[in-house]
Amino acid sequence: MGLEAPVMEQDPLLAQHGVAHGFTGRQGGVSQGVFASLNLGLHVGDDPERVRENRRRALMAAGVDPGRLTLGEQVHGTGLRWVGAGEAGAGAWAQAGALPATDGLLTRERGVVLGVLVADCIPLLLADPEAGLVAAVHAGWRGTAGRIGAQAVEALVAAGAQPSRILAAMGPSIGPCCYEVSPDLAGRFTRLFGREVLRVQGGRPHLDLRLANRLTLLEAGLDPGHISWHPPCTACHTARYFSHRAQGGRAGRQAGLIWLPR
Ligand SMILES: [Zn+2]
Repeated sequence: MGLEAPVMEQDPLLAQHGVAHGFTGRQGGVSQGVFASLNLGLHVGDDPERVRENRRRALMAAGVDPGRLTLGEQVHGTGLRWVGAGEAGAGAWAQAGALPATDGLLTRERGVVLGVLVADCIPLLLADPEAGLVAAVHAGWRGTAGRIGAQAVEALVAAGAQPSRILAAMGPSIGPCCYEVSPDLAGRFTRLFGREVLRVQGGRPHLDLRLANRLTLLEAGLDPGHISWHPPCTACHTARYFSHRAQGGRAGRQAGLIWLPR
């Protein structure tokens, strides 16, 4: 324990365009048990000192200042917030500091590391490298139903981004293979996005949350080739990733991180 470095996974599309980002997994931290080992969530019942050490390790592995990690409260809503110099580092060391009622963060400020914490929900990263704008979005089923991805695109466009240039990457999240949902929720998503977002396996509906987000982003004007949406399934790979569903609701959190280098 402790010698292994955190893994900072790269999305091929964002990497190809030189966008600074990373997705963490379970490896390389100091937490134990269900939180082993790189739990980055301060709100899940883990020892806060270990979580802060994990955050230091993860951000150092990414080559950025851990004190510049900026987080939203993440309330499964669609609240977006622009992060300026004044908000940089909000929530980095204490959950109470996270930006309230915020599920999506956007910035044009260099050196601010936007983060979303997840364990099955989609960490969605957006960037218009030419405009110098990035965003990190937490898209669970509620945010997805509220089209938070499209709302983030609209906010970026209002700030000077062009939809045709925006790159989107979905990080490790629960896949349709493992995301069984109630008939009620299945019906709701069918009405919102069409039947293609559902898969029936063993007579039970499974939701393809990534596809729903992809459809939302296409509607918002993104180029189909600018959406990276086949990340690993968190519930299929519980040695590599935290999974709320596969771990019975008691799990740590991994992060999607994006920033504009100084
Ligand atoms: Zn799966």
